[in-house]
Amino acid sequence: MQQILNYVDGRWVEARSQTWLDVFEPATGRVYACAPDSGPEDIDVAVVAARRAFPLWSNTPAAERSQILLRIADLIDVHRERLARAESIDTGKPITLARGLDIPRAASNFRFFATAILHAASESHAMGNTALNYTLRQPRGVAGLISPWNLPLYLFTWKIAPALATGNTAVGKPSELTPMTAHLLAELCHEAGLPAGVLNIVHGYGARVGAALTAHRDVSTISFTGGTQTGRVIAAAAAPLFKKLSLELGGKNANVVFADAPFAEAVTTSVRSSFANQGQICLCGSRILVEETLHDAFVTQLANRTRAIHIGDPLSEDAEHGALVSEAQLQKVSAYVELARGEGGQIVCGGRAPAAHALPERVRRGYYYEPTVITGLAAASRLNQEEIFGPVVTVIPFRSEAEAIEIANGTPYGLSASLWTSDLARAHRVAGALAAGTIWINTWMLRDLRVPFGGMKQSGVGREGGVDSLHFFTEAKNVCVQFAPP
Ligand code: NAP
Repeated sequence: MQQILNYVDGRWVEARSQTWLDVFEPATGRVYACAPDSGPEDIDVAVVAARRAFPLWSNTPAAERSQILLRIADLIDVHRERLARAESIDTGKPITLARGLDIPRAASNFRFFATAILHAASESHAMGNTALNYTLRQPRGVAGLISPWNLPLYLFTWKIAPALATGNTAVGKPSELTPMTAHLLAELCHEAGLPAGVLNIVHGYGARVGAALTAHRDVSTISFTGGTQTGRVIAAAAAPLFKKLSLELGGKNANVVFADAPFAEAVTTSVRSSFANQGQICLCGSRILVEETLHDAFVTQLANRTRAIHIGDPLSEDAEHGALVSEAQLQKVSAYVELARGEGGQIVCGGRAPAAHALPERVRRGYYYEPTVITGLAAASRLNQEEIFGPVVTVIPFRSEAEAIEIANGTPYGLSASLWTSDLARAHRVAGALAAGTIWINTWMLRDLRVPFGGMKQSGVGREGGVDSLHFFTEAKNVCVQFAPP
């Protein structure tokens, strides 16, 4: 049994209550580790440590902060295999995905912000020969960083790196379902020479430690990635304290395929955008809108390719589809598919857990669900309105560009959308009309860390990435110097 510990003030500690949470391996359904079941008292200690570390860290020259963060990035690279294995065991995702996406991206996050701060400039505004305004961008103090279970190290470091790079100190809370790589990251930060208290990691339930962090009076900045309902709770807790808040929330993303789309590429990428990470990526295109004349051919191809996805032990090199993160998530997905049946949907493929004998012996008790394609549901049905966050995709036909836009925009969410067409003018026109924070044209999940990332409507508030992260984690202060009478 592996033991995960909190990392507070440069030391590894148990929860004050000395109680523990079970950590499951989703592929086997077995407990393989334990993590501290922390409470508000552990958050208090971590915030004190972060406050104490703030004066030194915020006054450390950017070049020195950069060196330490670059060392962390290098250590992530050195330990890539160990981290990828840990991420795969903790989440149920194929190790090839953890090795190819999650862990390299965690290193890139540190490298990107470590170098960004070396080139960051602030504005100045001259008032003729009278005065000069210049803007200081100063770190804000202690940041609270809360991340979800689907891309654990990838998303946790997406917050840690810019927070620390800009001179803040932080208290982070990873999802209690997937605490392992956060624990390993603490070791790497320590080895890289990050001073004590600059980054503190407290494990435990969101409703206890997450809530305590959000409500803490000495935590001035909250960056949260997770579900829309949790975002609502956090926004309500943070508002009376006037905290600076970034919310990256859920989605019900449209993947719009016009009849003139590059067909083979659209199908191949749609399989990936539907089922990568068992469909547990906020950016997954969980509603595929297909122009009516292409609908049947598209569904046939999509279903054929989906049936060919290899479901296996996430630790084996050939597994393309692993386990869902938890039993609760498995039940949620199954319940939605039952609902689809009740709503008159046709299950074109999948729609059940794989038979035990179809799985390797080691993982027969894991939280598996087959990649599922559903047609025949109205755009307003619950399946097409609510975020499922699992390996379930629906296909909806449309007759015109206007109808495609109406359906795509017809949910409470607005995180991302993809569109497939060979018509350049239409691509730009539709991109402009879609209500989502990120639009991909003839691609999916092609990410550039410089661009603004975030959602519209109930998919979030604020943007992270590039200069938006640098601005989010700093306070703009204008200094006005008068050198001649007006
Ligand atoms: P979640 O249940 O909202 O949890 C996210 C994090 O918040 C976890 O660390 C959770 O801790 C914590 N938390 C729960 N209740 C809290 C509270 N009252 N106060 C403070 N923190 C609290 O989301 P999830 O199920 O982990 O992740 C899936 C969701 O994340 C999906 O909706 C997905 O779309 C979204 N997501 C969005 C993005 C994006 O960039 N927009 C990226 C990835 C995922 P516990 O785990 O202990 O409950």
